[in-house]
Amino acid sequence: MAVTTYIGTRNKDITASASEAILRGICPDGGLYIPKEIPKMDKTPEELMGMDYRQLAYEVLKLYLDFTEEELKYCIEHAYDEKFDTKEIVPLVKKGDMLYLELFHGRTLAFKDMALSILPYLMKTAAKRQGQKEEIVILTATSGDTGKAALEGFAGVDGVKIMVFFPEDGVSPVQKLQMTTQEGDNTCVVGIKGNFDDAQSAVKRIFTDKELADELEKRGYRFSSANSINIGRLVPQIVYYYWAYIQAVKMGEIKWGEPLDFTVPTGNFGDILAGWYAAQMGLPAGHFVCASNDNKVLYDFFRTGVYDRNRAFHVTVSPSMDILISSNLERLLCHMGGQDKTKAEMAALQAEGKYTAEITEERISGEFADEAETFDAIRRVYKNTGYVMDTHTAVAYAAAEKYRAESGTKNPMVIVSTASPYKFTKDVMTALDEKYAEGDAFELMKELENISGVAIPAPIRGIETREIRHKNVCEKDAIADFVKGWLL
Ligand SMILES: *Cc1c(COP(=O)(O)O)cnc(C)c1O
Repeated sequence: MAVTTYIGTRNKDITASASEAILRGICPDGGLYIPKEIPKMDKTPEELMGMDYRQLAYEVLKLYLDFTEEELKYCIEHAYDEKFDTKEIVPLVKKGDMLYLELFHGRTLAFKDMALSILPYLMKTAAKRQGQKEEIVILTATSGDTGKAALEGFAGVDGVKIMVFFPEDGVSPVQKLQMTTQEGDNTCVVGIKGNFDDAQSAVKRIFTDKELADELEKRGYRFSSANSINIGRLVPQIVYYYWAYIQAVKMGEIKWGEPLDFTVPTGNFGDILAGWYAAQMGLPAGHFVCASNDNKVLYDFFRTGVYDRNRAFHVTVSPSMDILISSNLERLLCHMGGQDKTKAEMAALQAEGKYTAEITEERISGEFADEAETFDAIRRVYKNTGYVMDTHTAVAYAAAEKYRAESGTKNPMVIVSTASPYKFTKDVMTALDEKYAEGDAFELMKELENISGVAIPAPIRGIETREIRHKNVCEKDAIADFVKGWLL
């Protein structure tokens, strides 16, 4: 069977194998890699129903990657193992009239683990296939979740070093400790005096610094990226949409072939795009609701066809969705309108911060929830079912309710649950009762344990007493020097 090849979203003559695309991360012209043709699932429903998560992952990933069976199985078996605290890897649970797809059972308690547990193995295999000899250096700027998930994924992987830059004063207490207590000799964590944008811009400048790249190459290093535009992050996310559907059939919520809707709390548009890919592969999914918080660029886009990032940036209780440029939307634009239109749209985004596109895909629509609606959703779901959601999941819940009311659909709905409530304990507890607003984030974890009946997850249990291993702080203008200092 022919393995998928990849083309650019701004120029269809830019092509790459999966291995090349994973190592490069982004096209030379700044576009993203998309599959030239989205492959079709070649297993029957009966076969799929009999698989565990790893077997299913193999059947999906083999269609997208130019790896041997042995290589791919090695990657999958080392990624989805005891690092996850449930044997199922991704439980689908029913509470009230919603199904929750819990993607937060990995080591960092957020859905980023689904892709970042396997990306290091995909990268190493890709490097081997491409005959790349240099040691890989992953540079990551993070606003909280990606940094820790990447650290966990790459820590202790030989032939790879990883550096993470986070805004010293811009992450939650749990997020900060998760990063600064990171073990592994190949890891380096640096707080920067600046915000996420400063960190991100500095890292991007380093990626395009030819002189530095040459210097590093002489020493046997090459930079790579673990951010969500890498197809090595996108493709593993397709698996859990199949998984959710299969579990819903097993639970008797649907029969195979009946529609199952998904609501996805969205930031960079990577998670929901993976669901859309699953549908293109033949999964009988129904509708996809793209849920935004107050930063509702995507909601406006799906309503009007106008994408406009010229607006105030809101800091919300769902920080991983605080984003005004959803990079992976470029892929959907290209699948809908082709490379020429996409190129023009991205040029307009660069020049004016806005573009207009024709939306030909009816399977996705937008909804949003403001802060009050998010808090209200956490409170109501707890009151009615005893289930405690995190803030991102709550945005999705509120959005799903709105979609149901507007469309009148009776389809079962999966709420894609992207983080453990323990990661955002303070906001979750405050949503449940105002009196917690003054509490200590770590004390509140015990309280959350009491009221939810879900034990504090092992990866963050006692985190406040762990040894801080990374105390580096650096000025935002000194990041490049810091990188050189660590590597050279
Ligand atoms: C990253 C993240 C999201 C957004 O996912 P995208 O793929 O960027 O749309 C939502 N929730 C949580 C908890 C996240 O960490």
